[in-house]
Order: sequence, then structure tokens, then C-alpha cells
Amino acid sequence: PRTPLTLLGTGAMGTALGRAWLAAGHPLTVWNRTPERTAALTAEGAVAAGSAAEAVAANRLVVACLLDDASVGAALEGADLAGRDLVNLTTGTPADGRARAAWAEERGARFVDGGIMAVPPMIGAPGAFVLYSGDPDLFQEHRDTLAVPAGTEYVGADPGLAALHDVALLSGMYGMFGGITQAFALLRGTDVAPKGFAALLVPWLNAMADAAHRTAERLESGDYTTGVVSNLAMQVAGTDTLLRTAAEQGVSPELLSPFLDLMRRRLADGHDAEDTTGLVHLLHTR
Ligand code: NDP
Repeated sequence: PRTPLTLLGTGAMGTALGRAWLAAGHPLTVWNRTPERTAALTAEGAVAAGSAAEAVAANRLVVACLLDDASVGAALEGADLAGRDLVNLTTGTPADGRARAAWAEERGARFVDGGIMAVPPMIGAPGAFVLYSGDPDLFQEHRDTLAVPAGTEYVGADPGLAALHDVALLSGMYGMFGGITQAFALLRGTDVAPKGFAALLVPWLNAMADAAHRTAERLESGDYTTGVVSNLAMQVAGTDTLLRTAAEQGVSPELLSPFLDLMRRRLADGHDAEDTTGLVHLLHTR
């Protein structure tokens, strides 16, 4: 028999998660602040509870997927969490995760925080995964159930670690989105077809993403020097071409300049034989 569980929050993401558990045969109790929004899942066999407290009372395993950390506190205010296993898939900061873990433990619950690395249509399909951190025993015991909607990636007992990984991955993604935005801005108003260009850009970005492994190796070894290959002196000399081309195309340098400025500062500090790894140090404010 499949483990029964409770799902708090049947928004876009909660509904996608709930569908996957129902399809796999898990008995599911659901609650949503706006009761009408549980209809899609009750039509597929979920049982709707009249309150969050009732939903929590129904099962040991309770998954919350609400808007933000404050809504988790609001939803669970009157619920008895003693003996429950609370898995919080609501997006928050590392400090939110740690505070929510302490809050749950004070109420007698075990706690795991999660960060969903997928959009709702990806749930139940290959490629989606969820980062988990917190109580290792809870995670081990419920791993099979948690693995139904998406792959599982446990990153440590500190409950803040899932959010830290989540935001670090999203930060890398937004850097890439910024670069894609700049690239298409350069081409706008020219005869270059966006789709044809994308066919070049995607394999280029995939090949360049591998640079993260080099950065990781350098951070771990402490040796940031690259020798003559793409060192900072060479890269900074090239930045002028990036900025002049943007100017020629009538494109603002506002996305590119902050990163180029960091490269220049690091070079000015005498790190001409390194790559960009040392920029990590410049960003640290404490
Ligand atoms: P939705 O806006 O679709 O759903 C939000 C849910 O939170 C609803 O169930 C809503 O209830 C509930 N809610 C909001 N405020 C409160 C409150 N004060 N008390 C109780 N319940 C409240 O968002 P998603 O389902 O898309 O997102 C849910 C979580 O999943 C978020 O933390 C989001 O960051 C995360 N996530 C979402 C992704 C996505 O692509 N959608 C991707 C990765 C993570 P009601 O129906 O009553 O408004």
C-alpha cells in the first residue's frame, strides 16, 4: 500500500504535485484556503479536509506548498503538529527554512524543507527535481513517496541548505537569462532571424556552462591561474569590443557593465593571470 499523505495548498504547483501522488495510488487529503481550488484533485480521488488542522490530523506526512513562508505560518496556526512529518515545499530563504524548522520542532514535528526545481508542467516528468534539507530520518523514511512527483536531491541536515541551493541555482539561471536578453537586444532591428540565432546560442551556452566545473575546481584548489588561456588580462581587453558593439547597435550596457566592472577591478588588483573565479571574493560584503 502507498503511504497516505496530506497536501496543504492546491495552487498551480500543489495541484501538479497532488496529481502525481494520486496517479501513483497514494491516498491524498488536501486543504486549500480557497476551498473551490481543491476541485481538480478531489475529482481525481483526493479527500478535501474542512480545515488545515483537520488535514494535518489525517496523516503523519504533511506536505505544504503555499505562496510564501508567512502563508505556512498562517495556515498551520491552529494545527496540532505533534508527531507529524512536515515537508515544506514553499519557496523561502535559508533563514526562513531554519526558522520554520525550529518552529516545527517546538511543536513536536520533524521537518524537512524543499526547493522545487521545476515548473508545474514538469512535475511527474523526467528532469524535474526537488532539493531537500533538514531531518535526515524523515527524508529517508519518506524518500519513495517524495520521489513520486519529482527527483529528490538531499543536500544536508541544515534546514537552510535546500533554499540556499535553490537560490544559487536560480541566480545562475538569471545570469544566463541576462546574457540571452543582451544577445537578442544586439540583434533587434537587424535582419538576423531570432530563431536562426537561437540555434547557435543554445549549443554555445551549453558548451560554456561547463565553465562552472573549472570555477569549482579552482575554488577548491585555491589556484585561480589559467596561464595564457582566457586569462583576465585578455578577457578585460575584449570587454571593450562588447561595449563598443552594444553602443553601435544602440543597446544599453546596463546588463553587461556590472560584470565587466568586476573583471576590471580584479585585474587592477593584479590578478591578470587568473580567470574570473576570483570575482567571487569581490562580491562578498562580509
Ligand atoms: P499559486 O499562486 O498558484 O498558489 C499559492 C497557494 O498559496 C494557494 O494555494 C493559495 O491559496 C495559498 N496561499 C497564499 N497565501 C496564503 C495564506 N496567507 N494562507 C494560506 N494559504 C495561502 O502558487 P504556486 O502553486 O505556483 O506556488 C506555490 C509554491 O511553489 C510557491 O512557494 C512557489 O514559489 C513554489 N514554486 C512554484 C513554481 C511555479 O513555477 N509555479 C516553481 C517552483 C516553486 P488560495 O488558493 O486560497 O489563494
